[in-house]
This record gives sequence, structure tokens and C-alpha cells, in this order.
Amino acid sequence: MAMTWYPGHMKTARRQMAEAMPKIDAVIEVVDARLPVSSGNPILAQMRQRKPCLMVLNKADLADPLVTKRWIAHFEHQGKEVRALALNATRAKEVTLLPKLCRSLVPHRGIPGKPLRVMVVGIPNVGKSTLINTLAGRRIAKVGNQPAITRSAQQVDLRNGLLLFDTPGILWPDPGDELAALRLAASGAIGNAAMDYHEVGRFAAAYLLRHYPDLLCGRYNLSFLPADGEEVLTELGRRRGCLEKGGEVDYYRAAEIFLRELQSGKIGRISFEAPDEIRLAGEKDS
Ligand code: GDP
Repeated sequence: MAMTWYPGHMKTARRQMAEAMPKIDAVIEVVDARLPVSSGNPILAQMRQRKPCLMVLNKADLADPLVTKRWIAHFEHQGKEVRALALNATRAKEVTLLPKLCRSLVPHRGIPGKPLRVMVVGIPNVGKSTLINTLAGRRIAKVGNQPAITRSAQQVDLRNGLLLFDTPGILWPDPGDELAALRLAASGAIGNAAMDYHEVGRFAAAYLLRHYPDLLCGRYNLSFLPADGEEVLTELGRRRGCLEKGGEVDYYRAAEIFLRELQSGKIGRISFEAPDEIRLAGEKDS
């Protein structure tokens, strides 16, 4: 499965971010807690260098809490300038922890007269706008749409010691990483038009078979463990009446149902990658 990103947009975003970097005190990188590496962008680490960074593992309400805990430890291990926080950006109560953590990264700022200047960055759909709106306590960024933030103001005072830099902050995933593309598609981060439901459904079903067989069997009342992702879709298609005229399973519809339920959390809290399953930055194929 290929991901399509526009080189022109990527170049502009990269330039805007590089220009903003010297003017900010800390970066807030939003990733999806279910796939924190595949939904990140290695370019950002190069651009920020040792600038303090708060990794927000958003949509933690959908992720496997045990795997999320391991991710937090993994990111906090990367250096003392990195802190990690898992949350649900739609919940104000969870987001209140964020300014405090940012201030702990840059203790000499975030006090009256010296606000902490932050920039929120991340790939589309990870929840940047939702987080900004919850932080601000009002709707200043468009949710579910691009650009991530309105272009009217240069800076937005979030009134909690944080000054938000109005940079679009939109990064893109690694376009050459096929596995990341499948994980992103399974999580719902890639637009419907761009994806092959059957392929992504088969991939996600196989992943669940391997890592969350009980949740899968529980949701679809399976009394046996299917052999592979295709068989999961076959069973689901039969049970949900996704059949073509001749009685054959309509895999497109079966995969569509399966992915919708997976992405909305109906199957359970699922993570698509764990720290020991990813190839770490700098590692090469053997
Ligand atoms: P952006 O493109 O990074 O600005 O992402 P948005 O803020 O537009 O969010 C994308 C979608 O994810 C929207 O439908 C949000 O309602 C949803 N969303 C954002 N944060 C969370 C969260 O913590 N949990 C859940 N379940 N959904 C979220």
C-alpha cells in the first residue's frame, strides 16, 4: 500500500517548522498512542535536535494500556529533554497535566511575563487540533480538517503559562515505510479514498489474531481461532451478511465493517505496535 504525500506541502511545512524552531522553548509532538512510531516523523527529531520535547501519546483511550506504559518508558529513556504523556485530547481533565509537564522541561519559563513558547506538531489526524482546542478551552483550531490551526494569529496565549506558536505543525509519515502505511491505515489515519480495504482489513485481522486473539474471538463470537486474516474476514462476512449474489463473501464490505469497529474501539483497546516490535531509528535491515 502506497501513501501519497505532496512534496510541495512537505517542503513548506518543513521550512515553516525549521523557521519556528529557534523561537520556541519546547516542541509538543502529538502521535497516536496505538502506533507512536509509525505516526511520528523522524525529520522532527533532526529538526529539534536537543530542544525539549513533550511526546503526547494521544487517543490513549483506544490503545492497549499496558503497551502504552511501555511506550512512555521507551520515550522517556531517549534523553532528559524528552517527556512522554498518554492522554485523550478530548478530555480536559487529562489535558491539564500537559502544561505542568512542559514547565518541568523548561523550568525557567512558564512564569508570569515569561510564557513557555510551544509548537504543536504531528502528522494529520493524530489529534493536534483537538488537543489545542482542549488546551485553549475554546475552539481555535479546526478538528478533522486541515490546516491544523487557523492562520489568523501569530501566537495564541493559552492562558496557562503556554504561548502557542501558530505554525501549521503538520508533518507526514515516512512514505517509504510499507508497514507503517498499513498500521496507519488500520488505525484510520489514512483517508478512506486512498486505501485498499481488503488488504488493510486482512493485515489488521492477522495482527489481532497474533496479539489480541481473545478480543477478536469475543467480538465476533468465534469458537475457533481462524488460520489467518483472510479467514477472520470470511467469518465476519458470513456472520454480518456481507455476501455477494452467488453467496461469496464480499471482502470489501467485511473489511469495512471490521476496520470501522476496530477504529472506534468496539473490539477493545488495541495497540498496533510495541517498543520491541519496531525497528529503531538508525537500525538497518540485516
Ligand atoms: P489533527 O489532524 O491532528 O488536527 O487531528 P484532529 O484534532 O482533527 O482529530 C482527528 C480525529 O481524531 C477527530 O475525529 C477527533 O475527534 C479524534 N480524536 C482526537 N483526539 C482523540 C482522542 O484522544 N481519542 C479519540 N478516541 N479520538 C480523538
